[in-house]
This record gives sequence, structure tokens and C-alpha cells, in this order.
Amino acid sequence: MLGLMQNQPLLTSMLLDFAARYHGDAPIVSRRVEGDIHRYTYRDLAARAKQLANTLDGMGLAAGERVASLAWNGYRHMEMYYGVSGSGRVIHTLNPRLSPEQMAWIINHAEDKVLCFDMTFLPLVQAIHAQCPTVKQWVALCDADKLPSDSGIAGLISYEGWIGGQSSDYTWPQFDENTASGLCYTSGTTGNPKGALYSHRSTVLHAYGAALPDALNLSARDSVMPVVPMFHVNAWGLPYAAAIVGCKVVFPGPAMDGKSIYELMESEQVTTAAGVPTIWQMLLAHVQGHGLKFSSMNRTVIGGSACPPAMIDTFREEFGIDVLHAWGMTETSPLGTVCTLKNKHLKLPAEQQMAIRVKQGRAICGVDMRIVGDDGQDQPWDGKAYGDLLVRGPWIMDTYFKGASPLVKDAQGRSWFPTGDVATIDADGFMHITDRSKDVIKSGGEWISSIDIENIAMAHPAVAMAACIGMPHPKWDERPIVVVALKPGAQLTREELLKFYEGKGQAKWQIPDDVVFVDAIPLGATGKMLKTRLREQLVDYKLPGL
Ligand code: ADP
Repeated sequence: MLGLMQNQPLLTSMLLDFAARYHGDAPIVSRRVEGDIHRYTYRDLAARAKQLANTLDGMGLAAGERVASLAWNGYRHMEMYYGVSGSGRVIHTLNPRLSPEQMAWIINHAEDKVLCFDMTFLPLVQAIHAQCPTVKQWVALCDADKLPSDSGIAGLISYEGWIGGQSSDYTWPQFDENTASGLCYTSGTTGNPKGALYSHRSTVLHAYGAALPDALNLSARDSVMPVVPMFHVNAWGLPYAAAIVGCKVVFPGPAMDGKSIYELMESEQVTTAAGVPTIWQMLLAHVQGHGLKFSSMNRTVIGGSACPPAMIDTFREEFGIDVLHAWGMTETSPLGTVCTLKNKHLKLPAEQQMAIRVKQGRAICGVDMRIVGDDGQDQPWDGKAYGDLLVRGPWIMDTYFKGASPLVKDAQGRSWFPTGDVATIDADGFMHITDRSKDVIKSGGEWISSIDIENIAMAHPAVAMAACIGMPHPKWDERPIVVVALKPGAQLTREELLKFYEGKGQAKWQIPDDVVFVDAIPLGATGKMLKTRLREQLVDYKLPGL
């Protein structure tokens, strides 16, 4: 027997309608590519998203067609999120940090029909547009008078000119909630990038999950700054979760340096933000270097790669800011787990609380987790046994766009997504990533966590960034080394850093064999350390004594 409740599809347009109606005057503030600060409200956002929807209808663009964005975090990008998917097309966010070849490959694979780009990326578009025959309309996200006359891109139009003449009168169509809403490709550090195709249902459910108190804890009283790019897994869902609660949104635009982020946080009284550790490192360096304080920030979400415990400590102890350590992937929309303490942990001594905070945290209801050994058997949830992390849930991917399904079945026939991460889970359900499976170091049959080795190095005051990789060893198979970039002007010797590992809870064989100093650790398109590139750079490296 079916329930007798209204069967209203979960559509992204519903979130925008809600925000415009109940939080119509809540501000959306953007630092624009032009450098100035732009302000408007959810009501304005909804009106312009509808103008965009009318524009796409006017072009005769069929439902399901892909409209690509190549843009920083800002209000026009948010209009695209809602206007494109709300009207039944698919918003395809492109990562501008990919190589031109990868970018063209992705555009062709996705068969994008329209591509809207920030003027910052004009040279990139000029370089690739001839290789992208599916794109029928190129749109520069700027005012009509800022459009270059000699771009060399046939039919290039300004976004404002494109949507400006359209009516903001529009009724969002109703359709199946499983309809595709967004497309995002993984950064493809190995092989060609793969597309995760989100649905309206998965996007809306993820937004509800993200807003929960033990997840991002968003409310109408927040001023939220998504520093994590809108071109990378929908800025962790914040443009949708913010509309659910109607909070103020502050977009940093292209200015991602510590000074610009800090100034915007202060001027817009930002209460919470989200980004990868490398961003917060730049912010902390600026704030500490200038003896500054935060006047409104009370928490920040850090994820995308392991947040060094030293960073969690600094935010808490020096600035009174709670770090919410989060884990997720492009294929998981992305939020899978967030680390917040339970009631029973509140009376624990500080160091025991800290031992929990450094973990990636508990599953958000909707996400289920397992860890399995090489034999496919479930590992115990004791916080010690580790295994391959598998997840499932309504916002976890099933099949890659135009690709295969990576899912694996358990004994009950339920399907799980293999994350490629290796983790432990403790009795309270707190998951702790020890490595990506391809980064795990196997020494004498034992696993060594590269993240643990990196975290200790990062706690040294002279170290700006540290990457641990395994090097071939005739006896032990592999031994870890730590590759280190120092802070500007800092001094540190190999011996000093190796000594620093003593007394930090590592067994002797878990301490790296060597330290290699580099000017900078190569970073990938989403700000994560590119260990593949590092390994290429160290191809002639030999471990000491070999
Ligand atoms: P890719 O880096 O392949 O583009 P994603 O950006 O989706 O893919 O990154 C997902 C991966 O990032 C996860 O599988 C995990 O290895 C890593 N990751 C994400 N958050 C964390 C975290 N808090 N701690 C450690 N690793 C993380």
C-alpha cells in the first residue's frame, strides 16, 4: 500500500523558489572578476535565473542538453546552477585548472552545447574553441560593453547581453526527480577524467544532509563563504544547502590569496567557510604573519585531502574556530562524512577530543560505509583494522557518464561504491582515512600511512607542505620518504626533521628513511598534492644506503 502524501518531485528549482520567497532579502555578495564587490539578494538571483531559463528556452535547447561553466565562485555562476538545471538542462562545471587538452576532451565527451566563461579564461577558450565542435554558443560572463571585439571566437556574446532582454517571468517545469541536473568530471590524475552525473533528487537530498547540525550546521543566521570552487563538486553543495536555510552567501571570486579571503571574511562578517587545506594554509599564514584575528568566523569545513592536525589545533587554540573535518569525493556529491563530537565526548580531556577531531568523521544519514580486507570480508569497527572504504546512498554515484559502473555487490546483493580510499572505522562510527589505496606504502608486509607521516612533518613550524611517498627497496619492497617544502625563509635539516618524528607515536619502521627538500610540492587541479608528478620528478632518486 502506498502512502497518501503529495508526490512532489525533489527539484533544484524548489530550493530557489523557497529561498526567494522566505529569504528574499538575504544577501549574496560576490567579488567579481572585474575586482569590485557585487551585491544582490536571493530574490534577484531567482529573477535572473529565470531570465537565463527563458534564454535557453528561446534558443530551443532541448531538455538534458549540457550547458558548461568555466567560472570562479560568483553570482552569475550561481544563476547558472539554478537557471540551467531548473529549466531541465544539465549544468556542467568545468575545472579551469585542467590542461587545455583535458578540457577539450571533457567538453567533447560531455557534448556541451553552450559554454559560459569568466573573462579570466578567455585565453584558454581562445586556445580550445576550435577543437570543440559541439559548442554552438560561447558566452562571456560579463557586461555587454566588456566584450572584446577581436576575440576570434565566432558568435561570442556577453552574458548580460544574452539574458538581459529576457523576461524574469517563468514557471519552473516539473519533471522526474531522477532527471540529471549537474555534471562534474573527476580530475583524472590517472587516465581520462570520468563524469559524475548528479540528479535533482541526489542534489536536493545532499543539500538537506549537508545543512544538518552535525554536518555543516547551516542556518539563516550564517554568512557562508564557499572558498572551495563551484567548478569542483558544486562547491561541496553549498549553493544548494545555503538556499535551503536562506543564509547569506559570500563568494570570493578569483581572489583566493590569504589577504583577499581574510578581508572579505571580515567585511562581510563571514561565520563559516569551506575549502581544501592548502587554502587555509595561505589564510593562516597571512593572519598569523600580520597579527590579525577573526571577528566573526566560528567554524570552517576543511576537506578534499587530510587536514593536518596542526591546522585544526591552530584554528581552535589561536582563533577559537572549530574545524569540521569532512571527507568526500566527486562521486559522492561530495559529502560523505563530517567530524563532530558526540555528547559523550564533551567531557573528555582535550587531547582525547583532538584524537577524534583529526578523523574524517561520521557518516551523514543517507550514506552507509563499510571497510573490507583484501579478501572482501568486512573488517571490524575497532578504529585499528583498516580496509578499502565502500559507500552507498542516494547521493552516491551508480555509473559514470557514458561509462561503466564501478559498483561492487555484497552478499545481500546490495551495491557499494569502492572509494579507492583505505580507512579505519571505530566503534562510534568515526571513519579515519589512512591513505588512498594507490598511495599506501607497503614496507615488509606492513602498511605505513603516508598521511600520518605527512601530518607529523606539517606540525614542524618550518614546514609549509609535506608529501610522503614510497620508494622501491630490495628488502622491504618500499620505504617511505618525506618530500618537504619549507616556509619562506625557514631553515631545517634532514636530521632535524627525522629527529622530530621521535616520540610522535610512530614505530621506528614507520619513520621515513629520508627527507627530500623541494621548492614546491606540485598541486593538481583541485589543490591537492600530485604525488604522481612528484614520483616522476624523483625518478632518479635512490634511498640512502642503496
Ligand atoms: P580526485 O582528487 O580524484 O579528483 P576528488 O576531488 O573527488 O577526486 O577527491 C576525492 C578523494 O580526496 C577521496 O577519495 C580522498 O582520497 C581524498 N579526500 C577527500 N577528503 C579527504 C579528507 N578529509 N581526508 C583525506 N582524504 C580526503
